[in-house]
Amino acid sequence: MDESIPQRFKMPQIEPYDGSSDPLDHLQSYKALMTLQGATNAQLCKAFPATLRKAARLWFSGLKPNSILSFEQLGRQLATHFAASRRQRRTSDSLFAIKQKEGESLKDYISRFTSATWEVRDLDQSIAISALKTGTRSYKFPFSIKKSFPTDFVEMLARARKYAKAEEAMASRREAAEQPAKMQKTRHEECSQPSSRSPWHEKEPPWPKSLAHSRSPLQKFQTYTPLTSTRAEIFMEIEGQGYLRPPWRMRPIESRKHSKKYCHFHRDRGHDTEDCYELRDENEALVRRGRLSCFVRDHAYRREPEQQKLVPREERDDN
Ligand SMILES: [Zn+2]
Repeated sequence: MDESIPQRFKMPQIEPYDGSSDPLDHLQSYKALMTLQGATNAQLCKAFPATLRKAARLWFSGLKPNSILSFEQLGRQLATHFAASRRQRRTSDSLFAIKQKEGESLKDYISRFTSATWEVRDLDQSIAISALKTGTRSYKFPFSIKKSFPTDFVEMLARARKYAKAEEAMASRREAAEQPAKMQKTRHEECSQPSSRSPWHEKEPPWPKSLAHSRSPLQKFQTYTPLTSTRAEIFMEIEGQGYLRPPWRMRPIESRKHSKKYCHFHRDRGHDTEDCYELRDENEALVRRGRLSCFVRDHAYRREPEQQKLVPREERDDN
């Protein structure tokens, strides 16, 4: 490479592209040959039409003047226009490598994943479904797949988008709740000093007022009905359906703030959802009210509601 390149510049010996073969092949060989000669991005764009013929040439002449700003953009437009001529660049299996990144929204991940599926010519639907399911960081969405496997990838995408929408709605609700001022007065505040409120109560919207005030003393049980799913799974399924009463807030303890364990029911650190005693009792109460029968393992346990001993409420730290 030297400075005289522009003078010695030669059109690369390359078969002209007519739109009938894979445009990505043409773009890649053209770019490689031009780059060898030290061509700039502008030169790449300028010389490119000379490598086109027939349909491809027609496509190029139909582009709006000054609409191309880079060779990448030009290439993308060509590839999109002749998408039908593209050959398979990815296998269905390679989709497993596409993982949702940290901080990436479910919506963005779905869009990235979908673009990758375009590169697979004969998409294996069930592989695509599994790959999307294992690649997501979403906690709830895979549960829905586990429960009933989608019939095809289109249905899978529809479901994924539903969760992505819910995620967006939640994010905007959280934003709204972060606006200071009107924190609803809930029992959380009644039983704690404002200064000792945990970060959750500052950041997340409290449970609906109507629910927060309907809390009766906690029911504690001596025996627990065997269920078909884990506590965390059941919680994910029934959350937001209005069955669960809001949890009592956990006593603020400094050491818990740094705990790696997180309870989705309490929305606080200190224990895992799976180990949440209060959720266990809430679930049991629901089972006995006939609310969770789909999770009850043994039909024999699907008993009629029974009288429960009411334990007077006191702030517990067994969670
Ligand atoms: Zn908990």
